[in-house]
Amino acid sequence: MSPDPRRRVPRTDALLADPRLVAAAGRLGRDLVKAAVQGVQQRVRDGRLDPDDAADAVLAALPTTAGSLRPVLNATGVLVHTNLGRAPLSPAAVEAVVAASGTTDVELDLVTGRRGPRGEAALAALVDAVPAAEAALVVNNCAAALALVATALGGELVIARGELVEIGDGFRIPELLEATGARLREVGTTNRVALEDYRRVLGPGTGAVLKVHPSNFVVRGFTRAVPVAELAAGLAGSGVPLVADVGSGLLRPHPVLPDEPDLQTTLADGADLVLASGDKLLGGPQAGLVLGRADLVQRLRRHPLYRAFRVDKTTLAALEATLRGPQPPVQRMLAADVDGLRRRAAALAARLTVAGLDAVAVDSQARVGGGGAPEHPLPSAAVSLPAQFAVPLRAGTPPVVGYLAADRTLLDLRSLPPAHDEALAAAVLEVARRWT
Ligand SMILES: *Cc1c(COP(=O)(O)O)cnc(C)c1O
Repeated sequence: MSPDPRRRVPRTDALLADPRLVAAAGRLGRDLVKAAVQGVQQRVRDGRLDPDDAADAVLAALPTTAGSLRPVLNATGVLVHTNLGRAPLSPAAVEAVVAASGTTDVELDLVTGRRGPRGEAALAALVDAVPAAEAALVVNNCAAALALVATALGGELVIARGELVEIGDGFRIPELLEATGARLREVGTTNRVALEDYRRVLGPGTGAVLKVHPSNFVVRGFTRAVPVAELAAGLAGSGVPLVADVGSGLLRPHPVLPDEPDLQTTLADGADLVLASGDKLLGGPQAGLVLGRADLVQRLRRHPLYRAFRVDKTTLAALEATLRGPQPPVQRMLAADVDGLRRRAAALAARLTVAGLDAVAVDSQARVGGGGAPEHPLPSAAVSLPAQFAVPLRAGTPPVVGYLAADRTLLDLRSLPPAHDEALAAAVLEVARRWT
């Protein structure tokens, strides 16, 4: 036998016959296992791996699932982090998704055997949660809800200049609205608008008056906006619907976020339709929620574009379970009291200190993020580690995303469910272990 390990690169079929890799191929598909085999063969060829360890190395290189998205521990202090997939689903919602993901009765009445209304139970849960709504509709996201409203209500959309918002990643609400062919009629100035500004431009061509919540910035100083109640009263009798995009999807006023609009109050104040995202403060799946007057909801549902925006069975399942089930994680994070967060930080820091690490518990500031409650800090607590932890923690398994402040890595605990504290400690210890 050649002493040169490069000559002894194990054959693909020999490796694939390893019972552990046969089982992996059944679970992940043959292509993924084969790709891992090829990577390992290259390492043997390069002399970086002993051929006898090849099968073990393939096993170690295999992904956990056939998809490449990985669970991440969110220690950023941003509760609804768009880059981390916004709201984590509640365990109840995850179970509902799993149950619905096979063949399911999403559009079939099992009693009569006839076609049934799609997603009826999720819509009922929405209306139950927001009693001021006569009816509800669910689309792919809030942007889709805006596009559907702009298209189906048509004509000219009246909107205040101060509400021409860019949400993030270059996504601008006015550009989205114009892309549907709707015309925008801007009223007021950047900082001020009055009821009269709206009333003056109403005409036979007006499709709707649109109010958009400035969810990621605040304007201070000499400012004036027209509240929904005043606008609704001012539009009464004009026949022009008032549509309010509240963004974050709070169902009711929240004591922690006094300035954040909610669906129930906005409708009770007189909006005809209210729009929101499902995966922000509601804590559910990505979805666009439309609630309000039954005739308007029906008009949207009947529009041909609705078919392009409707959601799948797993979204409907997750949304219903979010509304009917136990409090989802985002709601718990919002309600978490700071003393509890401090206790978690102290316990984690103590544990890491015993292991010889430079870890301390510190007070920190979390925030809602994801287009909600801008400039509203939430008191929080964090584990503070040396700065050089940030990068390897992010590259670990599971990846931990914190943030850097004053030359320290901070791991904020408000954005992390308490059940993940154990995994967080293990990830930090693993990084430290690899250094020593
Ligand atoms: C976040 C947000 C949107 C976009 O919502 P998506 O669900 O991401 O499409 C629209 N309007 C407002 C006010 C928002 O805050």
